Amino acid sequence: MAVKPPLLDVRDVYVSYKTYRGILKVLNGVSFYLNEGERIGFIGEAGGGKTTLMKTILRILPPNAVGVKGQVIYRGKIDLMKLSEKEMKKIRRRGISMIFQDPTSALNPVFKIGEQLMDIIKYSGLAEGIKLSKKELKERAIKLLEEAKLPDPERVFDSYPFQLSGGMRQRVVIAMALASAKELLIADEPTTNLDVTIQDQILRLINNIVAKRKLSVILISHALGAVRRMTDRVYVLYAGEIIETADSDELFKNPLHPYTKALIESAPRLTGEGIGKGIRGMMPDYVNPPSGCRFHPRCDYTMPICKERKPPLIEVKKGHWVACWLYYKR
Ligand code: SF4
Repeated sequence: MAVKPPLLDVRDVYVSYKTYRGILKVLNGVSFYLNEGERIGFIGEAGGGKTTLMKTILRILPPNAVGVKGQVIYRGKIDLMKLSEKEMKKIRRRGISMIFQDPTSALNPVFKIGEQLMDIIKYSGLAEGIKLSKKELKERAIKLLEEAKLPDPERVFDSYPFQLSGGMRQRVVIAMALASAKELLIADEPTTNLDVTIQDQILRLINNIVAKRKLSVILISHALGAVRRMTDRVYVLYAGEIIETADSDELFKNPLHPYTKALIESAPRLTGEGIGKGIRGMMPDYVNPPSGCRFHPRCDYTMPICKERKPPLIEVKKGHWVACWLYYKR
C-alpha cells in the first residue's frame, strides 16, 4: 500500500531579515513535517524563529525578509514557496489558517466584527467557487461566533473590536481562522496577554474545535503543559534551528538537549517548588550567530567541537532526535 505523504513537509528553510544593523540570519535550515490529522507543537524562547517559520509557510513574511529558500511541500505535491500570490491566496482562504498572537492587531478597529467576519467567509467561499448571499454570510458568521463560544453572538456581530474584552477578541480571531481553516490550523501563541484563567479556556476551545473538525494543528506556546497535553509531537526550535524532536510525552519526560532540559526546568510549577534555575545568557545576535552549535555560549557542557561544527540531528531512540555533540557516538 502506498504511504500517504505528510500534509506539510518543510525542507531546509532559510530566512534572513535586512535591518539597519545588518542581515539577521534567523532561520538556518529548518526541516519538519506534519501528517494529516496530526497535532504538533513548537516550543522555545521568544525570538527563536517560530513565528518567522509559520509566516514562511503562509508566505506572509514582511518585506525586509531576504535570502528566503527551501521547500514547503503541501499534500505531497505543491511547493508553496513556488506558488503565485494568487494561488497562495486560495490556500490561505480554504486550507491553512493562522491564529495570531495579538488579537488587537489581527482585527481592524474601524469595522464591526460582523463585517470583518463576513468578508473572510465571502472570500473563502469564492475560493471554492461558492457565492453566498448577505443573509447566508451573516448566518455563517453567527454560527462561527457560536462555535467560538462567544456569549450573545448577535451582539458581538454588531460590535466594534474595542467593545469586547481581550478574551472575547481572541475568540473572534479564532472564529475568523475557522472560516478558512479546512485542513490546517496554526495557532501562534494564541493566549499571549490573556489572564491565566482565560488562557486555559481558549486553549481548551481550540482543542475541542480541532478535534470536532478533524483539523491538523501546529501549536506554538510558552504554556508547556498545554503543548504536552494538546500535541502528538513536539519540535524544539532554538535560534532558528530544530535542536530536538520527539513524541510529546517522550520529550517532556526525557528531554535530551541541554537547552530543552533547561527550558522545561524553567517552566513555573504548580507544586509550590517555584521555577528552576532558568537559562543563563540570552538569545544570540542573529547578525553574527555563534559558530558551530548556536547554543554553545550558554551551554554548561560546551566542548571544542561545539564551537567548530554544527551538530547534526541524530535519532537517539526511535522517533527521538537531538542535535548535540554529547549524543554523537562514532
Ligand atoms: S552541541 Fe555542545 S554546546 Fe551544543 S548543546 Fe550540545 S554540548 Fe552544548
